[in-house]
Amino acid sequence: MSQVSRLARRPCRRVMIGHVAVGGDASVVVQSMTNTDTADADATVRQVFELWQAGSEVVRITVNSPEAAAQVGNIRRQLDALGCNVPLVGDFHYNGHKLLNQYPDCAQALAKYRINPGNVGKGSKRDEQFAAMIETAVRYDKPVRIGVNWGSLDQAKMARMMDENAQLAEPLSADALMREALIQSALESAQQAEQLGLSADKIIISCKVSDVQDLIKVYRELGQRCDYALHLGLTEAGMGSKGIVASTAALSVLLQEGIGDTIRVSLTPEPNESRTKEVIVAQEILQTMGIRSFTPLVTACPGCGRTTSTYFQELAQQIQRYLREQMPVWRKQYPGVESMSVAVMGCVVNGPGESKLANIGISLPGTGEVPVAPVFVDGEKTVTLKGDNIAAEFQHIVEDYVQQHYAEGGKLRALLPVDLMAAGQTSAPPRVIPLKAI
Ligand code: SF4
Repeated sequence: MSQVSRLARRPCRRVMIGHVAVGGDASVVVQSMTNTDTADADATVRQVFELWQAGSEVVRITVNSPEAAAQVGNIRRQLDALGCNVPLVGDFHYNGHKLLNQYPDCAQALAKYRINPGNVGKGSKRDEQFAAMIETAVRYDKPVRIGVNWGSLDQAKMARMMDENAQLAEPLSADALMREALIQSALESAQQAEQLGLSADKIIISCKVSDVQDLIKVYRELGQRCDYALHLGLTEAGMGSKGIVASTAALSVLLQEGIGDTIRVSLTPEPNESRTKEVIVAQEILQTMGIRSFTPLVTACPGCGRTTSTYFQELAQQIQRYLREQMPVWRKQYPGVESMSVAVMGCVVNGPGESKLANIGISLPGTGEVPVAPVFVDGEKTVTLKGDNIAAEFQHIVEDYVQQHYAEGGKLRALLPVDLMAAGQTSAPPRVIPLKAI
């Protein structure tokens, strides 16, 4: 996939999660998490495969019981047999030290262990159990994520910090203290892991909260106080548009500042909704910010009193779905296609302007307009579609364009910004800029 970012990134250590690099000079990595019972290997394999097909580069699975741990190796083998090499991360709470010890197949099959310092154990057992997990990571040469969450912050530590804070001449506010406790918990655990023999380039940190402003403050501070790679995400972002907006708001501010090496968008799916939505949203955040390209995006107008029907909305949706569905194959066959832009506009008054800016654009007839749909390819009007078959014909035009412009060894590829930047040029012809410049 293309790296098209022109944003400076916070310097940090590079961590390998299996074959996927996170941090250093690597692209920002998209990851996701299953919601299947890991003990149900078939359901988990299906969902991991689906998330990977959607573009998730790392997938986390819950490892919460002996039954789940017993299936991890089997899940890995089934995925490998399907040609799916996505690295699996094990999410452990409380019994991770035991499961990793009792199920070596699980410890080996996972590409990373996620440890929440607040959920490792209580009292004196906490350090012992944390050490056991880190020692396993060292033994199997695996990275870990020290993943702190506000909801599961070590309460003993928090109580200690509150007492100390109360003695200060100028005590921190409750919010500031909470943020400091999260950061300290993550950094102290990371240092402890290093003292136990885990190298710093095997450590990724996260400090997740559910409030956008708090998340921004926490990560800005965290970014300054360490050089570990950072996993970025808003926890409990929520359902539907609220979850998407909150995640986008928080992640965009931080990504714009170069903070965040791997992202997850924690959406609560609607009943029966595909889990892949969180992958698509994460990709679209990165793509609309001009950081990476994943899938050709459809630009569509919102529609107004000029549009006579929902036809153009349906066409925009159909084309976007079609483009997304092709990507698992196109990604390999047509490098660079992820940067292509397609416009579907609702009238021929204002539509052509936007259509000309895209690689391919169509302007459908609005109210009172002649029932024809001009198509623009690389800014030039090439054909006018009419009749009942506009959608299928337009899809063919898109398909032909992809084959002609992106097939390796085929015709010359369209000069897209990514190519220009790779060639050291700093500006692209405005006609084909598919992503908003930052
Ligand atoms: S492109 Fe045409 S139909 Fe779409 S919002 Fe603009 S004026 Fe309305």
